[in-house]
Amino acid sequence: MTIEVPHIPWQRAVFCNRTLNLRSIKAIGYDMDYTLVQYHVVEWEELAYGYAKKRLLEQGWPVESLVFDPELMIQGLIVDIELGNLIKANRFGYVKTVFHGSHPLDFDQQRKIYDRTLVDHRDGRFVFLSTMFSLSEACLFAQLVDLWDAGNLPAVLSYADLYSRVRATIDDQHREGRLKEEVARNFERYVEIDPTVCETLLDQRDAGKKLLLITNSDWLYTRAVMQYAFDSFLPQGMTWRDLFDVVIVSARKPDFFSSRSPLLEIVDDTLLREVSSDLISGTVYFGGNAALVERHLGLTGAQLLYVGDHFFGDVHATKITLRWRTALVVREIEGDIKAEEDFADKQCKLDELMREKEDVERQYCHVRMLWQRLRKGRGGEDAKAFKQTVDELRGKLENLDHRIAPLAQASSRLSNENWGPLMRAGNDKSYLANLVERHADIYMSRVSNLYLETPFAYFRSARGTLPHDAPRRSAV
Ligand SMILES: [Mg+2]
Repeated sequence: MTIEVPHIPWQRAVFCNRTLNLRSIKAIGYDMDYTLVQYHVVEWEELAYGYAKKRLLEQGWPVESLVFDPELMIQGLIVDIELGNLIKANRFGYVKTVFHGSHPLDFDQQRKIYDRTLVDHRDGRFVFLSTMFSLSEACLFAQLVDLWDAGNLPAVLSYADLYSRVRATIDDQHREGRLKEEVARNFERYVEIDPTVCETLLDQRDAGKKLLLITNSDWLYTRAVMQYAFDSFLPQGMTWRDLFDVVIVSARKPDFFSSRSPLLEIVDDTLLREVSSDLISGTVYFGGNAALVERHLGLTGAQLLYVGDHFFGDVHATKITLRWRTALVVREIEGDIKAEEDFADKQCKLDELMREKEDVERQYCHVRMLWQRLRKGRGGEDAKAFKQTVDELRGKLENLDHRIAPLAQASSRLSNENWGPLMRAGNDKSYLANLVERHADIYMSRVSNLYLETPFAYFRSARGTLPHDAPRRSAV
């Protein structure tokens, strides 16, 4: 029997940093928001922005004319709260692109400020925007920096003070639950349905893997959104609850992975009961901690996989503290890959021109050095001829730069006009890409990308490249 293996579009592939054999994974824990359940980002962030703006208006801030701009910020940027800047850095922490408020800084301004500064997200001066939920916050902060610079926010003491006020305003909206109440009233507008996620989880469950839902969202919201996103797409008589061995809500990740927080059982919608015993399959819990999960499953470390979208909330602590295997959902890479595919011909042209430039540069350096020796009386050749060649090569380089510049600029603006692709900073990997590489064993744009891979997939990391790798010879 010949089986046709389905083609997986590159945008929907699973990308591997560290080899992971799904067959050796006995249990998979899932985050919910932006992991199992995808939202329409612009609608959601516009809502969050609107609530925060309303709160600021109530406090007398002059923000009537501000409008959410979904293109102004992307995930993975870093806020410099001392200077009111937003930064994209490369994998080493070198600053590559800077906005002060909502305006870009040119190269010279940027160099003057950050010449001696390496960005490090552990430094209190920098705040890393690690989820989609950060977009409204970053946009609002940038616009308020403009207002503060113009002298329109007299009560604010500094950029750091401004950032903490924006953060508190956004956090209040989340804490008070108004956003989710609004989303729950209108799931059609905010939730993106993907029935393949249900198939993916069914396959994993049928392959013998224990599935867990571990979310920071509260029980009432979790139940409502999971019902909406899952129940209609499951076999007759089955609900989302049947997919999961254990459901843990209000988990307080990332503390969940390292703390010994007490476990409460949700008895009905409002009643919580403290639990002193171990977890019981089929139950919904409030809080608790990862050690209880490991004890319940009788599994540790590399037998568990945790899948989430929040770099620090889901993946970082899980990897550092527990050594669970980790998968990160990065929705934007679909757009980045599509933009790079559309740009592929121009990228080939750019690469070709860069190779030509390198050749001409080498010739230029060499001829210039020979000419220098001649001028110092260390050669017998014709000085005039050398000078002419130096000038010709310089002209060639200028011509090449002229052709390269628009292509290089277009390449750096792929996907987002202001910041370019999420995982790249110029030719290098971005700061975010470096964190993903270090802490996420695999990453993908959606959980349903695991569907075509099956629960038996063996993800192998590619052989890492090094600058000193010899050029590969093609097979004869
Ligand atoms: Mg999430």
